[in-house]
Amino acid sequence: MTIDSKSAQISDVLTELTQVLGTAYVLTGEDTRKWQADWTKTYSWMPSAVLRPQSVKEVSAIMRIASQHQCPVVPVSGNTGLSGGTVAEGALMLSLDRLNKIEDIRVDTRTIRVQAGVILEAIHNATEEHGLVFPLSFGARGSAQIGGCLATNAGGSNVLRYGNTRDLCLGLEIVLASGEVLDLMASLHKDNSGLNLRNLFVGSEGILGVITGAILKLHPKPRAYATAMIAASKLEDSLIILNRLQEATGGMVEAFEYMPRMYIEQHLLHDPAAREPFDDPHEVNLMVELGAISPGDARIDENGSVPIVEKLQLLLMEMLEEGMLLDAVIAQNDAQRGEMWHRRELAGELTTTVDDIIINDISLPLQAVAPFLRRAEQDLLKLDKAARFFVVSHLGDGNVHFTIWPSAESTTNHEDFRTVLENLVEEYHGSFSAEHGVGVSKLGSMARRKSKTSLKVMRAIKSALDPLDILNPGKVIPPVLES
Ligand SMILES: Cc1cc2nc3c(=O)[nH]c(=O)nc-3n(C[C@H](O)[C@H](O)[C@H](O)COP(=O)(O)OP(=O)(O)OC[C@H]3O[C@@H](n4cnc5c(N)ncnc54)[C@H](O)[C@@H]3O)c2cc1C
Repeated sequence: MTIDSKSAQISDVLTELTQVLGTAYVLTGEDTRKWQADWTKTYSWMPSAVLRPQSVKEVSAIMRIASQHQCPVVPVSGNTGLSGGTVAEGALMLSLDRLNKIEDIRVDTRTIRVQAGVILEAIHNATEEHGLVFPLSFGARGSAQIGGCLATNAGGSNVLRYGNTRDLCLGLEIVLASGEVLDLMASLHKDNSGLNLRNLFVGSEGILGVITGAILKLHPKPRAYATAMIAASKLEDSLIILNRLQEATGGMVEAFEYMPRMYIEQHLLHDPAAREPFDDPHEVNLMVELGAISPGDARIDENGSVPIVEKLQLLLMEMLEEGMLLDAVIAQNDAQRGEMWHRRELAGELTTTVDDIIINDISLPLQAVAPFLRRAEQDLLKLDKAARFFVVSHLGDGNVHFTIWPSAESTTNHEDFRTVLENLVEEYHGSFSAEHGVGVSKLGSMARRKSKTSLKVMRAIKSALDPLDILNPGKVIPPVLES
């Protein structure tokens, strides 16, 4: 197709789309600025238009029109993804932001029914009023939408206790590439009637269908939290610490996060409000949070103390006496708890404080995190002896965010850095992609590390559901290489 015939085709498509959505909701040119780059500013693009439907019917009509004209469509929610999943050069971007209704909250069944464009934090606010919580949480919760969280099977800080987004999803509504609506909006806890299609679409990053609604599981909101920063004498002890906390509290650990000294230093450097977590600097800084659901663990006694906080204090004292911990600070009020969380949740901003970054989102068997981290730095320094490594980890579930900051002198390309890290991930039986998804940033890793058979099955599923390859093309599944 020539450039002229292509632009004539796009203009026809936009005319048809405008008839469905109205002029105000078919954005082009400068009006699409907000959607022209990813959150990290690693990728930028020019979409042919951004479409903002308000109903499932409109999403369906968009997909029918796109199918007829074989136009690529990139679903976008909060655009906070960290893998370039919304790159959309010359494509139609389908924004779900106007499908933003919370349709039903059921206190008896502890479920919520939402449209895909509802912002994660809005779900938190709505459920908390009922003493319930949707426990998926991370730094971008004020912008990420539930459709994007489902599409990436987002993880965050509470996976240890509640699982990832897939574990929190009961029902799903999807518009397929053809425009057909696949209604899986059941709120069943058991359903073995054939293949589990819901689980296939969760985590599919917009390549199989457009998620338009969901039924999600809620949990009782903890009545009290005990939150602490602790300094361990060595990272290898972290599993013992975690297991002791779990056993002593009957599994109340909500979060178990790791921030090495380098992280704390970057925080002190870039956040004017930042303070040292302890009087003395330590290498292994952990943030732990317990959540008490039963009233007995949360009730303030006559001395003004809360049982769960007392319990944490006792446990930490024991471990300090044993020499497993070097220091510990327990939050005494909401402001101190907020300060601890703020430090941890600034990870995204701190990761992007330099221009050249290679984000890696790795998962490892829990016992492998400490040796992996030691070896990773050694191996990568052989490629670039002045490289720096920005590490932060959802340690309780083995997820390590390992960002490489190559030195200004480095001539090594990004994929070579990634390959070295992948070799080590493979050696420790981990995965190169834990919670952010593949998008375009990990296509190389997919090609190098996934078995031929896995890729064949993925391609077969993709072409069965999207034979024209119009949904988020070029993402997740690497192209077949000519031999
Ligand atoms: C500061 C910060 C902290 C973060 N912390 C975490 C963390 O702890 N854990 C974690 O897992 N992630 C984290 N992320 C990554 C990101 O927020 C999540 O991946 C989030 O789930 C993306 O949601 P979104 O609405 O922004 O989706 P988008 O970025 O808009 O989209 C992400 C992908 O999903 C597809 N998609 C979006 N909506 C739909 C839909 N309705 N139907 C089908 N496909 C769709 C897109 O095409 C794209 O491929 C963080 C990001 C930032 C910026």
